[in-house]
Amino acid sequence: MSDFVFSSKPITVVEGEGVHLYDDAGQAYLDAGASYGCAPVGHRHPSVVDAIEDQLASLLYVQGSYPVPTRTELYERLAALAPPGVDNVWLANSGTEANEAALKFARHATDASRFIAAQRGFHGRTMGSLSVTWKPKYRVPFEPMLEDVEFVPFGDGNALEVAVDDDVAGVIIEPIQGEGGVHPATSDYLQRARRLTEEVGAALILDEIQTGLGRTGTFWASEHAGITPDVITSAKGLASGLPIGATLCADWIAESAGPHGSTFSGGPLVSAAASATLDVIEAEGLIANATQRGAAIVDRLKTTLGDGVTIRGRGLLIGIEFDRPVGSLLRDLALHEQVLGLEAGRRTIRLLPPLTLDEDHVDRLVEAIGSVATAEVSG
Ligand SMILES: *Cc1c(COP(=O)(O)O)cnc(C)c1O
Repeated sequence: MSDFVFSSKPITVVEGEGVHLYDDAGQAYLDAGASYGCAPVGHRHPSVVDAIEDQLASLLYVQGSYPVPTRTELYERLAALAPPGVDNVWLANSGTEANEAALKFARHATDASRFIAAQRGFHGRTMGSLSVTWKPKYRVPFEPMLEDVEFVPFGDGNALEVAVDDDVAGVIIEPIQGEGGVHPATSDYLQRARRLTEEVGAALILDEIQTGLGRTGTFWASEHAGITPDVITSAKGLASGLPIGATLCADWIAESAGPHGSTFSGGPLVSAAASATLDVIEAEGLIANATQRGAAIVDRLKTTLGDGVTIRGRGLLIGIEFDRPVGSLLRDLALHEQVLGLEAGRRTIRLLPPLTLDEDHVDRLVEAIGSVATAEVSG
């Protein structure tokens, strides 16, 4: 058997519980990457497991044209969490499909075809989402992409103003670029993107697949900027590790969704897991916890690591940029400190831990990163 897509890590994972993963020798690892943020309430949260088991006991799947209670409940939960007026919910099976739907709806709703996306942005691997994804390594081997895409420097309002005109169907950006190195957009930039798209009748699509669900200290990261986009996409940890995506749309976008569809969209099982996940985020006060633990991690890392690093992010989406590649740091972190992190570009360690992190976990995380960083410098 050959694994021709994913490169393997030297740890065989057999169990997950809370903020920990366990290998086949029973060793625990603090999961500070949480598989790109796919465990916002931790691994196998009892409420999520119960909801899945309850659903399994009655219905696993039925075609989407039959209403099922768990999907209806999830629609209602997401609509209530959406910014005002962005409460039409389309469910999909992944992040890239959520963005794919957003792009299709925006084209149909505007009768325009061009998309503006950001340099360093990441939106997924299917043809449409890939076309608005920046990294040539992901895109070029599969060309031709959608023709009408222009990439502008992230954060540059003037460049955006030059690019946005009447032919633009949508502008798609992440409020904080994740994959691209953990770069937050300023409120000013997001507000300008809102104004510019509104002026020409284009859709402002915010990809909150990594930033949503309370991770940055508000349910959606775009709330920090006080703007209401036309479309928000969500995915990753929305169903605690079961495959899901969601596209939240304003009415004028949703009216153009008609001819789109998907067999497994909003299946009963994932819907049950997603509603349970959203319930836990609220019941356990995890949004406030993300703010508090995130600030503690950043403060303490600044003291521990000193001037050699740049720390960016918000809440529990944190990037630590070193002056050197971080591959060996991450390896040491995993194998010597039993802490799992992620890369975001070659020189940045990215943390996307469960939002359930407590004070002891913060201690462990900061000490582990400090220890490998200093060991590497002195060793
Ligand atoms: C992961 C991610 C995607 C793609 O999601 P998949 O479920 O892998 O298709 C899109 N946008 C952002 C910001 C992501 O982090």
